Amino acid sequence: MPRGTILVTGGAGFIGSHLVDALLARGDRVVVLDNLSTGRIANLDQASTHPDLHFVQGSVLDELVVDELVHRCDTVVHLAAAVGVKLIVEQPLKSLTTNIRGSEIVIEAAHRYRRKILIASTSEVYGKNSRGPLSEDADRILGSPAVVRWAYSTAKAVDEILANAYHRERSLPSMVVRLFNVVGPRQSPAYGMVIPRLVRQAVREQPLTVYGDGSQTRCFAHVTDVVAALIGLLDCEAAIGETVNVGSPAEISILDLAWRIVKATQSTSDVRLVPYETAYGAGFEDMTRRVPDIGKLNRMIGWSPTRTLDDILRETVAEARAEEVARTQMLPA
Ligand code: UDP
Repeated sequence: MPRGTILVTGGAGFIGSHLVDALLARGDRVVVLDNLSTGRIANLDQASTHPDLHFVQGSVLDELVVDELVHRCDTVVHLAAAVGVKLIVEQPLKSLTTNIRGSEIVIEAAHRYRRKILIASTSEVYGKNSRGPLSEDADRILGSPAVVRWAYSTAKAVDEILANAYHRERSLPSMVVRLFNVVGPRQSPAYGMVIPRLVRQAVREQPLTVYGDGSQTRCFAHVTDVVAALIGLLDCEAAIGETVNVGSPAEISILDLAWRIVKATQSTSDVRLVPYETAYGAGFEDMTRRVPDIGKLNRMIGWSPTRTLDDILRETVAEARAEEVARTQMLPA
């Protein structure tokens, strides 16, 4: 007996597809809206034969499709977005349109039909605030809007403000989740994310490209833990109207991460420091540190991560090795 019908925008993406699997497993009906720009239909392989999955290939910019799908569902999880620093730096206009206009269309439809909506935001909204751990009310510290990276942060902040304004002024049952670096199986290396990239480099015995001096730190959460947090928040009445960090508090420098990956893959690769401007173009600014305060999430739903970085690396390495075998088998002899 299905519990409810949940629309997942971006449901063929990395996080979305794991969420879809988990929702189907607990008995929900799921409708996925994805334009397959960065999402992949293969991410839904496991879910594709499930009778309670309905997949629609389309864009969140298509108001008619969004209207119809939101109408058919009782809850919306809005994950569709242009993500990944590389993609945003390379296609700023498209990214901004998707992230601002797309979210506005989805939020407006949720309001029209009074649907509960979870909006995925990002730790990028904190900008260069490198104090840690960052609680939800920490200041945003941003560079010039002319620097594309901060445009992404601003777009996501606009989404948050819009959701909050609809909640306060129009009683929309919305919640905002700020995701810190989420990793795990199905995350593509194509959009610049560090773990899938470095793991593939190590598996191919290529140098691992660490940007800057590698002293910048991040905290990596396993996608399965993150999905459990999203579902916990969807079921939590107290989360309505709130903004909540989701991420792991375990901090590691990117240089240490690179060597951990070399060790985990038993690779002969070396680590190569690459200047930021070579990687992302002139004027790029990185965050030196980004650590979530997850006290609020823990108090709300009793969540803390169950998987370590070693667990994450083990799975990512296994996936990369399997891909590598498939790739070499397809090469002409
Ligand atoms: N990074 C790196 N080498 C890569 C890709 C990324 O050193 O091949 C760095 C990047 O500059 C950043 C960190 O790894 O400091 C995390 O990057 P990612 O794009 O995964 O996430 P975000 O910057 O959004 O935290």
